Amino acid sequence: MKLMSCPECQSEIKEQLGTVCPKCGYTVGYFNETNKRPKYAKFFALSVFLPFITFITIIFTSINTISFIFGVIVFLFSAYKSFPYFYRNLFITKFEKIFFWLVWILVNSLLLSMIYNVVHKLQLV
Ligand SMILES: [Zn+2]
Repeated sequence: MKLMSCPECQSEIKEQLGTVCPKCGYTVGYFNETNKRPKYAKFFALSVFLPFITFITIIFTSINTISFIFGVIVFLFSAYKSFPYFYRNLFITKFEKIFFWLVWILVNSLLLSMIYNVVHKLQLV
């Protein structure tokens, strides 16, 4: 078990989430490290909003080939921006890591199948 020094009273406590410092009552949590919080929030927002925006864009751009190219660019940009690999340092637990990878793979394969359907509908191939 890894130990860390308590940020409140500097005594040695376990690094595990949920550990309560016996001296001052400080609790080890997800967002205790202040520098991690904004990045985590940003990543969370990205992985929710970007696929949603992409979804809407694909629907609206699927009318013709030219506009659909724009839709595909938005998809690629969104998939790249929310790629969990770039945020791997943010994940504390294994569950978190697996969860975000699963969400990313699921969402982007759904969007990709949408693109595939539009390509067939527009008879681009
Ligand atoms: Zn303490």
